[in-house]
Amino acid sequence: MNILNFGSLNIDLVYQVEHIAQPGETISSLAHQVFAGGKGANQSAALARAGASVFHAGQVGPDGQWLVDKLAGLGVNVQHIRIGDVPTGHAIIQVDHHGQNSIVLFAGANAQIDRGAIDAALSHFDRGDILLLQNEINDISYIITSATERGLTICLNPAPFDPEVRAYPLELVDLLIVNETEAAGLAGASDPAALASLCPRAQIVLTLGAAGAQYHSPTEEFHIPASQVEAVDTTGAGDTFIGYFLQGLTADMAARDAMARAVKAAALCVTRPGAMDSIPAADEID
Ligand code: ADP
Repeated sequence: MNILNFGSLNIDLVYQVEHIAQPGETISSLAHQVFAGGKGANQSAALARAGASVFHAGQVGPDGQWLVDKLAGLGVNVQHIRIGDVPTGHAIIQVDHHGQNSIVLFAGANAQIDRGAIDAALSHFDRGDILLLQNEINDISYIITSATERGLTICLNPAPFDPEVRAYPLELVDLLIVNETEAAGLAGASDPAALASLCPRAQIVLTLGAAGAQYHSPTEEFHIPASQVEAVDTTGAGDTFIGYFLQGLTADMAARDAMARAVKAAALCVTRPGAMDSIPAADEID
């Protein structure tokens, strides 16, 4: 069983600043760092670190080869990532002394994926394989519909949430993973039953930050509390959780066991700064 993650690849440009630039103001940054990012790439990295067989599909520009190399170095299969002419998606992130941030996103190549590339990637996957999607690339509805026709299991993490998500073919989703913001955007509340009415055939996982995570399916319902840790940086917690949870399910773990392991992995992630680089390896969890 293979996992195809069709998702974003971003370059995160982080600037340390005294204060976040005000309208009309020009400021100098105190330090600058460049990181691999994008929810899609982070979740592929988490899947690989958890031990899954994961193929990433998506698109970068000529400036994005290093992102592809980085994912490959983590064990992600990158044969379905296209390198086109449109620049790689990026985020300009200002971070002040209090850890407050301000982010400008440029979707770039992530929003220019054509149907030829989608069809080509999907043609390598079949019944029994899993498709994972976030909400940082274009044409999500088409990808869900086409993958369903091929018999793939659809896992959707509609992050970052925007109202367009409500128009996706949610009735085709088999596994929905949302945090409280996404749950509120989709269903008006952090309520698994309300989410289930939108995705009637789905297993639903609601992540609750420091309160852990909640599972709901037509046959089972349970909550797993988060591990008590000193949180340093919660960036990447959800992505780590998703990677470990999905890997657990593909390794035939019961949902409860997969979720307990995902909660442990996400707790370890929040004790470290960074996003992709803070995702723990499987041997640190087990
Ligand atoms: P996202 O990162 O998408 O906003 P959450 O904040 O819900 O998602 O976090 C995802 C998971 O990470 C949670 O279900 C929990 O297991 C873990 N987690 C997040 N914040 C903490 C924390 N402060 N302490 C321990 N675990 C945490």
